[in-house]
Amino acid sequence: MHMQLKFRFHAIRNSGSVGQRLGNEFQESRVTTVQNRRIVDIAVIGGGIAGASVAAELAKHARVVLFEMESQPGYHTTGRSAAMFAPNYGPAPIRALTRASAAYYAVPPEGFTNVPLLTRRDVLLVARADQLDALDALMEEVGQDPNTARIDGAAVREAQPLLREGYGVAGMLDQGGSDIDVAALHAGYLRAFKALGGEVLTNARVVSLERNGANWQLETAQGQIDAPIVVNAAGAWADEVAALAGVGQIGLVPKRRTALMVAAPEGSDPRGPLTGDIGEKFYLKPDGARLLISPEDEIPSPACDAQPDEMDIAICIDQIETAFDLSVRRIESKWAGLRSFVADGVPVAGYAAESEGFYWLAGQGGYGIQTAPALSRYAAADILGQELPQDILDQGLDPADLGPARLLPTG
Ligand SMILES: Cc1cc2nc3c(=O)[nH]c(=O)nc-3n(C[C@H](O)[C@H](O)[C@H](O)COP(=O)(O)OP(=O)(O)OC[C@H]3O[C@@H](n4cnc5c(N)ncnc54)[C@H](O)[C@@H]3O)c2cc1C
Repeated sequence: MHMQLKFRFHAIRNSGSVGQRLGNEFQESRVTTVQNRRIVDIAVIGGGIAGASVAAELAKHARVVLFEMESQPGYHTTGRSAAMFAPNYGPAPIRALTRASAAYYAVPPEGFTNVPLLTRRDVLLVARADQLDALDALMEEVGQDPNTARIDGAAVREAQPLLREGYGVAGMLDQGGSDIDVAALHAGYLRAFKALGGEVLTNARVVSLERNGANWQLETAQGQIDAPIVVNAAGAWADEVAALAGVGQIGLVPKRRTALMVAAPEGSDPRGPLTGDIGEKFYLKPDGARLLISPEDEIPSPACDAQPDEMDIAICIDQIETAFDLSVRRIESKWAGLRSFVADGVPVAGYAAESEGFYWLAGQGGYGIQTAPALSRYAAADILGQELPQDILDQGLDPADLGPARLLPTG
């Protein structure tokens, strides 16, 4: 159904001087107004990393407005992550998107940021004797990654001296991981978006979405706008936004994850590895003079301003004190955020089959930051009907893995 729109963008791009033509359009007027309704090419809903990154990619070719319901883009999940780039984390399509993002992180576009986006941080996953099968399975999945090795108990202890004596008999050490400067990444995308003429509207919750002829009509707390294409990058709210539009939902489940900041023991290495349980029951990550700790909880939740639960905090401290030789005396800060998943744990990027011009960009789970550079380039090309970026496909990504059609009931 969206072919018409694709043709429209093809037509614009193939008119001989795409950039020039669009550039002229921008110069003449960024936004058209018809009968008091502003019309743009694309409305992006959600100002987290998904919305900001795809908006920046789209604004190279189209007139784009981004709507964020909070006063601050990044207030929800994007501002609450553990900020890791972990290439061996997540299902195969996630790993492909993460690998395909590495070059952007290493060399972002000119003027994107003046700080490094990545700083090396190893990832150490520890296995107790009863978890060796899980370690074997993970090593097999990771395959021949030259950055990753299976290590014995002594090497585990050497890599992470904070572990309790006797805890962990083997592990996987991944030396390809990094900390991400999430604030710089998010701000870089928003800056790039605005520099291309994009408009960010905050306090602009989309409250109604209706298809009227060739356009979606959006009612927002900041007024009305029309656009032939809507990108649903509303994070935990993505299924609610689809419901507003009368589009079939994708079964998104927001899952709450808790994180605490506690003092690091004297003498511990601030550049030490993120150290986690192979069974995903806890992790600890040095953060300057503090440690970020999490029980790796995944508690289904409605879309909301997630807050940490006292029980999850207690579980977190207990698990951390069991595995590490430290006692948590004071919590310096605590928060929770929603990691949103569909059934197969892989993001959803693609047009809804039944609704013209409604594009899904949701379900990034626990990997939405590390995959953003590749996923946004992929989604922007897909939205505009361009060829999908070959470097991303070359990492082994199959578009069918991301499309919403895979989530439709079969038979
Ligand atoms: C504790 C924790 C640790 C994590 N660690 C990592 C990590 O180490 N590495 C990694 O890559 N990922 C990590 N993640 C996951 C990552 O943070 C998410 O995948 C990513 O932030 C999702 O981005 P998003 O833009 O989809 O969602 P969000 O950041 O939630 O953005 C969605 C936005 O949509 C807005 N919105 C919703 N409805 C509307 C509406 N109707 N109108 C207008 N605006 C609307 C919301 O206000 C929100 O700002 C972690 C997450 C958590 C919670």
